[in-house]
Amino acid sequence: MKKTLLMLGALLLSPSTLAATPWQRITSPIPGSPQAIGAFANGCIVGAQPLPLNNPAYQVMRPDQRRYFGHPDLILFIQRLTTQVHNLGLGQVLIGDMGMAAGGRFSSGHASHQSGLDVDIWLQLPKKRWTPQMLLKPQPLDLVSADGKRVVARHWKPEISSLIKLAAKDEQVTRIFVNPAIKKQLCADAGSDRDWLRKVRPWFAHRAHMHVRLRCPPDSLECQDQAPPPPGDGCDAELESWFLPKKPGSGASVKREPPPLPPSCQALLDKHLL
Ligand SMILES: [Zn+2]
Repeated sequence: MKKTLLMLGALLLSPSTLAATPWQRITSPIPGSPQAIGAFANGCIVGAQPLPLNNPAYQVMRPDQRRYFGHPDLILFIQRLTTQVHNLGLGQVLIGDMGMAAGGRFSSGHASHQSGLDVDIWLQLPKKRWTPQMLLKPQPLDLVSADGKRVVARHWKPEISSLIKLAAKDEQVTRIFVNPAIKKQLCADAGSDRDWLRKVRPWFAHRAHMHVRLRCPPDSLECQDQAPPPPGDGCDAELESWFLPKKPGSGASVKREPPPLPPSCQALLDKHLL
């Protein structure tokens, strides 16, 4: 039931029908030495950088939305990952939302992506670069079957596994969210090299993209890391619980009032939106 409501919500709400958040009015990064502040789902960023739009290894989707800002660690991670993918000839990496120029809350689409350390990467690796028109209206590829139990065999490629594994093996990455059916497929394919699976976490939606989260940079003193995922590869009962008729208890579909902003983010808003 909750899930149905969530899906309905996604259909009904488009960016134009939602109230803008104050963060959307800050269109260029706050100058200063880079600081990721607060939590992934309640934070902001000083000294964000734009991901360069021209790079042979990746393409940035919906550049008109200007959600391509992040902490320099995130920029470096994307460049590091996509260079590896490019060198292996796996295809073009499609970069989705990162954060806004000063981070903060979006009016739609995400609760997190607020502190400059999150990026959505699509789980398709086209061999040919997309045209600017395709990048403005990108077509997601739903990798999960209608019943949510498995990946769609004709869409699933070993390159997708490799992309997720390369990202998970990056030292800066702490978590990757994918649909439970995608995690199940990764578990089945992994063989004996499985430590990286610990970072790959099942979550609602995420049928066409993975959400990659980096650790707090050591010099971002107000950045709040999450506890590490539980030990093990996570291919066990916890994963199976996602396929039971009732989903495990989770706040994902519960609408709550946003918590108060970290004081540094509030101060930043006050200063820049006077
Ligand atoms: Zn995301």
